[in-house]
Amino acid sequence: MARPTQARLDLGALKHNVSVARKLAPHSKLMAVVKANAYGHGAATIAGALQSHADAFAVASLEEAAVLRDAGITLPILLLEGLFEACELAVAAQLDVWLSIDNEQQLQWLEKAVLPAPLTCWLKVDTGMNRLGAAPANALHYYQRLMATPNAADNVVTYTHFASADDVHNEQTSQQIAVFDGLTFSAARSAANSAALLAWPLAHYDWVRPGYMLYGHSPMAQDHPNAQTLQPVMALTSAVIALRNVAVGESVGYGGTWVAQRPSVIATVTIGYGDGYPREAPNGTPVLVKGQRAALAGRVSMDMITVDVTDLEHVQRGAEVVLWGAGLPLGEVARWANTIGYELTTRMPQRTPRVIVNA
Ligand SMILES: *Cc1c(COP(=O)(O)O)cnc(C)c1O
Repeated sequence: MARPTQARLDLGALKHNVSVARKLAPHSKLMAVVKANAYGHGAATIAGALQSHADAFAVASLEEAAVLRDAGITLPILLLEGLFEACELAVAAQLDVWLSIDNEQQLQWLEKAVLPAPLTCWLKVDTGMNRLGAAPANALHYYQRLMATPNAADNVVTYTHFASADDVHNEQTSQQIAVFDGLTFSAARSAANSAALLAWPLAHYDWVRPGYMLYGHSPMAQDHPNAQTLQPVMALTSAVIALRNVAVGESVGYGGTWVAQRPSVIATVTIGYGDGYPREAPNGTPVLVKGQRAALAGRVSMDMITVDVTDLEHVQRGAEVVLWGAGLPLGEVARWANTIGYELTTRMPQRTPRVIVNA
């Protein structure tokens, strides 16, 4: 029998989550963000499943765009950081991608290029994130230059990105919307990531750009009604491969960080940080064993974890274990591990087989 560790991908859940996004922003086009290998799920799989459900895709680099084109994706693909070198323009034209224009240099590369056909450009405006994009005071000038160069198509989209949309009480989002609304030229607009799509209807504009919510998770700092029906796409699963009794005072795992306070039953599960389970997960982190909650006991190893199943009945070798998925939200595990769900799926290594269900 093969090692039972898997990242199961429920493509039915993915399509359901897109329909949730569509219903919340019915007047906006939908750009599905599939950067970083679709947040670790597998870019070709996710984009392939969304090909007839999204209006465009977004990635972080030309290399990521090439993966999608190689997989037969024909929808538009936006490069969220634009180009890093002038020489990428030829490949960008060949792959027929959309360019983000963030700065003077990228604009000059475009103006000076000789291209077979104009490229669609998204002009990024920095409304307060202070990371990328033209200053609002320069945006009109950039827009006029894009309209003037024959290398940019006429359908320029102006866009911005929110720093704090996951917190409905944070005033920064309203401030960013006000700056964005203050731009005077009449290009199409885009601002909303998942959080703004879920919680800031004023920010939907012409294009929404959800990523995280499509994978079935809420980015919101507080529970939000619009996020309640999202369904997790990835379930990280494994199985018990050994069981042992541990006496009071004995320790479990590297460093002996967990010590039995009572006669205990410890289940060894074949999954570890080499499979994308976070090493930072401390003793007590919840794990589902045969659908019942149990707690991590001992440090996460590369290939194994150990779980206290003393209070569970009928746990045997082969019992199914869920590390996150239905019944155990990714975000809950991420909080235990002092990170966010985005990071947990995104750093899922190649070794973990992606198994598609509900194709
Ligand atoms: C990653 C990204 C998104 C998607 O963000 P989520 O929080 O995953 O929805 C949208 N826009 C830009 C510019 C991004 O970099």
